[in-house]
Amino acid sequence: MWLQGPAAKCEAIPAERKHPWRLVLLGAPGVGKGTQAELLAERLGACHLSTGDVFRAAAKCDDCDQSPAMKAALEYMRRGDLVPDSTVWEMVRERGDCILRCGGFILDGFPRTLGQAESLKQLMEQEKLSLSAVLNYELPVNEIVQRLSGRRTCEQCKSVFHVTERPPKVENACDRCGGRLYQREDDRPESITVRLDAYERSTAPLIQFYKDLGLLVSIVAKGSPDEIAARTMNRLKDLAGH
Ligand code: AMP
Repeated sequence: MWLQGPAAKCEAIPAERKHPWRLVLLGAPGVGKGTQAELLAERLGACHLSTGDVFRAAAKCDDCDQSPAMKAALEYMRRGDLVPDSTVWEMVRERGDCILRCGGFILDGFPRTLGQAESLKQLMEQEKLSLSAVLNYELPVNEIVQRLSGRRTCEQCKSVFHVTERPPKVENACDRCGGRLYQREDDRPESITVRLDAYERSTAPLIQFYKDLGLLVSIVAKGSPDEIAARTMNRLKDLAGH
C-alpha cells in the first residue's frame, strides 16, 4: 500500500500490538538500513516504510501519470540529491494511515532533513503517538563507498546483493526469485559522492536532534546483516517499557 498510493487498501495490516514499535532508522547511504529495516520488520511485526522505494517504484512505472512534482523529484533522485521536503512530505502525508494505524512502523530513509523531522514530530504529537527509538547505524566512510559501489538490487523483489560480500549464486540473478540484478543509478560513483555530501549536510544534524529528544540509539553496522539485526534486537530489548 505504501508503494501504491493513498487509494490502495492495505492487505497486510499487522495485528494490533500493546506496544507497537515505532522506529526511525538513520545512517549514511550504504550502511545497510534497508536490509535492517526488512529484517526488523519481520522480527517486530511492524511495517517497513521506505521513501526511497516509493521514488524508485514511481521511476519504474512507465504508464503512471506522474505529477510535475514527482517528475522533478525523480530528477533529484537520479543525481543522488535529496528530493525537496515539500514533495517528500506530501507523499508521506498521502500514506499517513500506514504511520498512524499499523501495528508499528520502521521508517527507512525518512526523515532525512530537520524540516522533515519536525513535520513528523508534529504529526505524531497531533495523533498522540511517540517514537520508540531512533536507530543510528554507524560505519566508516571507506566501507560505505565499497558497499555502495558493489551493491546490486533485484529488479523484481528488491533483494540486495553485493558483488564480493554477498554474491548471488548465479551471476546477475536473484537467489530469491530469479529476477535480474541491476546497479541502482544512484549507486554509480558520481552519484555516491553527491549522496554522501547530502547526508553530511542534511541528515547528520538529525543525530543531534534525536539525541536531544532522548531517542537516539547508536549501533555499529559492521558484520553480516543477521549479526547487525541481532545487535539491534538486543538494544531494543534493553529499552524501557518494552
Ligand atoms: P534511499 O533508498 O533511501 O537511499 O533513497 C534514494 C533516493 O531517494 C535519495 O538519494 C533521494 O534522492 C530520494 N529520497 C528518499 N527519501 C528521501 C527523503 N526522505 N528526503 C529526500 N529525498 C529522499
